Amino acid sequence: MLQAEVFGETVWTYRDERGYGPSLGLASHQHATREAAIQRLEQEERIRAATDVPDQLSRGAYEAACAAAGQEPLGDEEIRRMAYGLVYGEFSLPEYTSERIIQMRLGRRRLAAIESELRTWPVVIAPTTAAHPDEEISCPSCGRPTRRSMLMSASFGLVCPECYDEASERC
Ligand SMILES: [Zn+2]
Repeated sequence: MLQAEVFGETVWTYRDERGYGPSLGLASHQHATREAAIQRLEQEERIRAATDVPDQLSRGAYEAACAAAGQEPLGDEEIRRMAYGLVYGEFSLPEYTSERIIQMRLGRRRLAAIESELRTWPVVIAPTTAAHPDEEISCPSCGRPTRRSMLMSASFGLVCPECYDEASERC
C-alpha cells in the first residue's frame, strides 16, 4: 500500500503482486466518485492480504487463512465438489463480493493441496497393500470405511467404490 496525492487529498493506493500500480488513477476512471474508487481499492487490498498465502494449503493452514480473513472454512468434501468452479471460475471484482472472492481463492489453494495429497497417497501405502489386501481402512477421499482391495483408481487418486460412482455421475 502506498500513499499518494489524488484529487488534492491523501488517499491509499494499491500495487498488485505483479508490480502494476498504483492503480487509483485507473480506478478513478471506472468509478463515479472518489469514494467508490477508494472503496474498490480497499476491497482489492483486503483480497490481496487475505490470499497472500502459499499456492497449496494444508487443512490447518487453510483454516488459519480463513480465520484470518474472518470466514468459515469449507469442508474438504465440499471443496472437492466445487473443484470445477474453483479451478475454472473467474472470481474478481466487481462481479463478485470480496468475501466470495476470498472464499473461492482460498478454496482453490486448499483443493490444490488435496489433489497433491491424493496423488502421493498410494506411494505411501504401497508396501502394505500386498500383505493386507482386505484390511479395513478409511477411504482416502471421503473417510468412509472400506477395504484396501475395494479401492478404485479415479482421476484424482484411489477412492472407495461410492466415491468412484459419485465421481462418474458428475462427468
Ligand atoms: Zn470414498
